[in-house]
Amino acid sequence: MSNLAEAFGRDVFSPEVMKERLPEQTYAEFCRTLETGHRLDLETANVVAGAMKDWALEKGATHYTHWFQPLTGITAEKHDSFLAAKRDGRILADFSGKELIQGEPDASSFPSGGLRATFEARGYTAWDPTSFAFIKDNVLCIPTAFCSFGGEALDEKTPLLRSMEAINKSALRVLKLFGSDAVSVKPTVGPEQEYFLVDKEVFEKRKDLIYTGRALFGAKPVKGQELDDHYFGAIKPRVAEFMADLDRELWALGVPAKTEHNEAAPAQHELAPIFESANVATDHNQLTMETMQKVARRHGMVCLLAEKPFDGVNGSGKHNNWSLSTNTGDNLFEPGDTPSENAQFLLFLCAVIAAVDKYQDLLRISVASAGNDHRLGGAEAPPAIVSIFLGEELTEILDAIENDSPVGAKEKELLKVGVHVLPRFPKDTTDRNRTSPFAFTGNKFEFRMLGSSASVAGPNTVLNTAVAEVLDRYAEALENADDFGTALHDLIRREISAHKRIIFNGNGYDEAWRREAERRGLSNYVSTPDALAHFLDENNVQLFTNHRVFSEAEMRARYEIMNDNYCKIVAIEAATMLTIARKDVLPSVSRTVHELADTLNAKRATGLDPDCTYEEDTLQKLSALTGRAYLAVKDLANATQEARQLDATDEAARYYHSHVLPAMAALRAAVDEMEVNSARTGWCYPSIGAVLFSVK
Ligand code: ADP
Ligand code: MG
Repeated sequence: MSNLAEAFGRDVFSPEVMKERLPEQTYAEFCRTLETGHRLDLETANVVAGAMKDWALEKGATHYTHWFQPLTGITAEKHDSFLAAKRDGRILADFSGKELIQGEPDASSFPSGGLRATFEARGYTAWDPTSFAFIKDNVLCIPTAFCSFGGEALDEKTPLLRSMEAINKSALRVLKLFGSDAVSVKPTVGPEQEYFLVDKEVFEKRKDLIYTGRALFGAKPVKGQELDDHYFGAIKPRVAEFMADLDRELWALGVPAKTEHNEAAPAQHELAPIFESANVATDHNQLTMETMQKVARRHGMVCLLAEKPFDGVNGSGKHNNWSLSTNTGDNLFEPGDTPSENAQFLLFLCAVIAAVDKYQDLLRISVASAGNDHRLGGAEAPPAIVSIFLGEELTEILDAIENDSPVGAKEKELLKVGVHVLPRFPKDTTDRNRTSPFAFTGNKFEFRMLGSSASVAGPNTVLNTAVAEVLDRYAEALENADDFGTALHDLIRREISAHKRIIFNGNGYDEAWRREAERRGLSNYVSTPDALAHFLDENNVQLFTNHRVFSEAEMRARYEIMNDNYCKIVAIEAATMLTIARKDVLPSVSRTVHELADTLNAKRATGLDPDCTYEEDTLQKLSALTGRAYLAVKDLANATQEARQLDATDEAARYYHSHVLPAMAALRAAVDEMEVNSARTGWCYPSIGAVLFSVK
């Protein structure tokens, strides 16, 4: 165990390292910065930078980089060596406070959604001292925020940090009313990460996996996950070695990887970390995804992070466990034992219920992507309708408060918030209802709609800001109340009544729920373009601008980028399908037909009248399918051509969804049927089954 404790965070410039290496006063100054969120002055930054450089050089680092998260979904880095020329011409290792605090990468190729013209392409990176620097592949990585010359956010981190500030302020305001002396509140996040592992050699034979990360063709495998024999099953030795290696690398980087297990689909696995502050958890999830891919290669495998790599078996998501924690370590969603603790819990619970109801569209948008569209709404992932699972017992308590009725059959007393102790309700630490998109699990919420490849920054930015907005409203109502207790009880009652439509404890996969949700007026956006159409709704613009999380210009830019991203992904998938169909499938099936015709002729030429039914039927069938597939290729080519003509990105996104995706599906159907009717040896790529069971 001591080994593990030593290994954890070995490559991180952590507070422990800083305490050891910084002068006492500098360290104190740094800690104050962390607590208050103020900028570090240059003098202190210089001292920190010097210590950081010495530490990094001792550990063998040669370069440093400002590590940031542009709106490409992955992280970016530009390496500079520590070498610097001194005035006297000597070359020395150097690293200044200024270099630590701010960088200026030439950023013209990162998505900006029109916030920045190419001639003023400079972007700025600014050090985020709340996420610690670390060494990766001999490079000192400094987590930074990324913005334009005018200060507009061009990344995932900036809005997330702003949203954390918003919820800190609002939650403290409410806590004060309960007599709390907390000085800060942070959202905590534990993202459970799903992924697939496939053999590298098999992977290399599939261009669709290489270019898009998902199988665009492929008949349903003869065996999928029907037997549930993979879920939590014994881990294969090769995968176990990968997981051990992955854990070691992640621990060195200070990522608290905790649980590794097999998931539902063959070749599918999951990693769950210990939760951390939302900002650090987001950075660590990016590092986790990157490290998974790197370590898999080393083990002769490829890690697939796409949301739906294979039709017919489950896709991959991310369960975003979220809660609020004070500087003294109190979890604000812990129900507590006393009437006062219960009352505070109920108010925060109501704030989440109200926030999820009022901003359900934004939550849906925060998980929208071309890849995740293939998952949400299938009977495997939460539906595209946002709702909250509370469990029967807690729902019953809320009902009793709303209706001024006794809880349960036995109790006669009415439940008065702040006066009575809440009846015990079972803690849901196991996923009791896996179909719910947003579940209360005892002392935290689990938002389950996230796709496996996306950053968790967006969904948490929405969640933090939406809850902050509601908490502010509560604070206003309660701060001026004559009688706090009565006002609190009434407020909670009103809120339950106003937002209970979002609570649903039943089966989210049921068709009946779709109809019921519609009756309740909940949104159901089945595709990304459908969802994105609501991003700039008045309600949403007001939320983000009020809390200074996004300016309207930043929102418009993101709207552009999200639509554009959707178009690009579908366009690449369509182009990949066209290439595979034209260059591999059609020529190969045509050859097969030729062979069948040769065989037929040869058989007939024997004059023996042999049975030729197989050759005749297959020849007919493959010929017809070739014709069908060829037409589908032409349709798909036309559809992508049309899509490219559209200038407005939102219009183009809608067109890709309504025309290009159906054309892709038609081509796939024809090609997959050919695969079923063709010899294994002649087929141009390994079957889905071969890929899913490729890691022995
Ligand atoms: P399971 O969901 O498998 O029953 P847990 O509920 O213990 O397991 O935890 C699942 C994930 O939720 C883990 O990543 C864990 O760190 C995270 N988690 C637990 N408590 C919190 C919290 N207060 N805030 C955020 N995430 C949390
Ligand atoms: Mg879970």
